[in-house]
This record gives sequence, structure tokens and C-alpha cells, in this order.
Amino acid sequence: MLSCMEKKILIGISSCLLGEPVRYDGGHKLDHFLTDTLSGFVEYVPVCPEFEAGFGVPREAMRLVDDPESPRLMTIKSGVDLTGRMNMWIRKKLPELEKRDLCGFVFKSGSPSSGMERVKVYDAKGAARKTGAGLFAKAFMERFPLLPVEDEGRLHDIGIRENFIARVFAFHRWKQQLAADRSPAAVIEFYARHKYLLMAHSPAMQKDMGKLVARVKTMERGSFLGEFERLFMTALKYHATVKKNANVLMHMSGYFRKRLSADEKQELADMIERYRQELIPLVVPVTMIRHYVRKYGEEYLAEQYYLDPHPAELKLRNHA
Ligand code: SF4
Repeated sequence: MLSCMEKKILIGISSCLLGEPVRYDGGHKLDHFLTDTLSGFVEYVPVCPEFEAGFGVPREAMRLVDDPESPRLMTIKSGVDLTGRMNMWIRKKLPELEKRDLCGFVFKSGSPSSGMERVKVYDAKGAARKTGAGLFAKAFMERFPLLPVEDEGRLHDIGIRENFIARVFAFHRWKQQLAADRSPAAVIEFYARHKYLLMAHSPAMQKDMGKLVARVKTMERGSFLGEFERLFMTALKYHATVKKNANVLMHMSGYFRKRLSADEKQELADMIERYRQELIPLVVPVTMIRHYVRKYGEEYLAEQYYLDPHPAELKLRNHA
């Protein structure tokens, strides 16, 4: 069985996004970024709740109705309540997915089964509010609250895409760490290597994690690891903004203060400033810092995942 520990990262995905003809009308919603680009770095675990729950293809279209907090899944024309059948399938499916050790999930937006947010819920008069989540997506997110999730619509936004993929890769590294070595020394090193990545996402939570790590030897191991994972994945949910990235770049450039010539220092400072003004993409100053890391053998920075959080081929830092 493939798992998060093997070469490719396992990500759950709504089957129709892979081009599988499982929608109510026999169609699909192929998403080229997911199938042509991201697929080179992850292995997908397709899930179609409506097909797998036995509703067939083609099938009558359905929607969510009544209470947005606890909606029912009803067919639109014939008014058949499919909530019970869907929930029964969900109860069987979630433990199966838990065994797959997923590192993320990409949901189909807007679906009464698979949509993760802003799914239409209809009231008795037939008026819709975009306030719900699909039955499967909601149950999945409640069961795996720290797992990175997004929908394909939101992933078209480059900032959201970068954040999601950074979290998927970070979660994968954390799972690898847990499988390889859970000792206090190993977790301290894991934290140290993520320090600047965490700072780029949430400087406040990076400090909280520093305080937690300082208590590693006094806490019960299971509680410590649970709290570490919670803070780690929550911190990374914050977006790495231009301002926070520029702050990290300034911190990193401080390591070379005594080694760079006046010209080189000015060039690096100018580059960071140009990035701050959004004239050049993040990849430019990061590449220059990586160059100095190699040139001067700066080992602490060489280990920082901030400089290499996900594959360069995804071009997630190439946009000004
Ligand atoms: S949105 Fe979900 S339920 Fe609908 S076809 Fe896609 S995977 Fe199946």
C-alpha cells in the first residue's frame, strides 16, 4: 500500500477533477493544473461520494436543504432524501481513508457532497444561501482537522495554491519525521529546520512553537507531539505575505553581514526591497540567498526548508 512515507505524497481528490465521468450527468470536471502539473509530485486517491454511495451515473441532481449547519441531501426533482445513505457510506469511508495516511485533499467546489465551503443550502421557499459544506467534505474536515484541504476553484489563486502545497509538503515531512525518529533531539532539529518557513507564515506562532520546543523534555511525549503538530499545521495556514517574506529574507541576509562586500550587501538589500515593492518575484532574492549559502557554506541556512519548501518545477514563487 502506498502511504505518505513513500516517494510520492498521497492526496485525496474528488474523482471528477481527474476527468473521471462520475458527475450526475455523466460528465467530469477535469482540472489541468491537478492532472498535468501537481500529479508529477503526488499520488491521488480519488473519491466520489455520490458514485461510491451507490447513487449511479447518470443520476438525478441533488442539493442541500434546510439547516446550513446540518443540511439534508435531497434530489432536486423527485425530492428523495439521500442523507441517510450518504452518511452511512461516509461512516465506512473515513476509516478507510485514515489508513491511506493522506497528506491533503482537493475537493470539488460547490458540490453538495464534496464542496468544502460556500455550498448552496436551500430553504423551504427554494432560496439559496452559500453557507454550507458538502456532507462528505464536512465530515472529512471534522475527522482530520489538521490535514491541508482546498478546492480546485480556490487553487486557481496563486497565493492559496502556494499555501496549500507548502502545507502538504510540510505535513509529509512531519509524518516522515514521526515515522523515523520522535526523540526530543530529532523534533528540536525538525523545528529548527522549519524556523524561517514558520516565521514567513506566522511570526507569532513560530515564537509559540519555540516556547513549546523548549519544554520538550518536561512534557509527556504524546502530548508534546500532538501539540507540536497542532501548532505546526495551524501556523502554516497563515499565508506567507510579501511583508513576512521580506522580513525573513532580511533575517537571513544578516548571516552574511561580515562576509559580503559592501557592493554585494547593497545588491542583496536592493533585491529584497524590490521584492518588497512587488517588482520582482520571491524566487529572485531566495535564489541569491541560496547562492551565498552555498558560496560561504552557511550550514544552518542550508538546512532551512524556507529556501526549498516545495519543488521548484511548480513555480509557486515565480509571480511578482
Ligand atoms: S463533485 Fe464529488 S460527488 Fe460530485 S462527481 Fe465530483 S467527486 Fe463525485
